[in-house]
Amino acid sequence: MQSGDVLGHETMGEVVEVGSQTKNLKVGDRVVPFTIACGECFFCKRGFHSGCERTNPDREKAAKLWGNSPAGLFAYSHLLGGYAGGQAEYRRVPHADVGPLKVPNGLTDEQVLFLSDIFRPATWPPNSAT
Ligand SMILES: [Zn+2]
Repeated sequence: MQSGDVLGHETMGEVVEVGSQTKNLKVGDRVVPFTIACGECFFCKRGFHSGCERTNPDREKAAKLWGNSPAGLFAYSHLLGGYAGGQAEYRRVPHADVGPLKVPNGLTDEQVLFLSDIFRPATWPPNSAT
């Protein structure tokens, strides 16, 4: 960790703004973001978003320690990108079209909160439950 890092990798939230490249989310959607995946690399194209080859800028350090590098993850140290976590008022979500799970209507926040830590790091394709 480094001074100023924002913790919190198990989060959910409401979309308050979308970037010009984001087509599948809109303001007001509830989302569970965790794995940061590009959607275009070898692993992403096969649905293995946790192995994304493009979203961890510290990939070489992680590979040296573990033999390979996972995707960039929010609030998971500078071995996995140093991305700020969710213990903040707002969070920027890179590649928002790919990574976040959109929460279906009818489910409470409490029912889905821990999906961020249980399902998102897995190889489960995002948004398959919507
Ligand atoms: Zn990728």
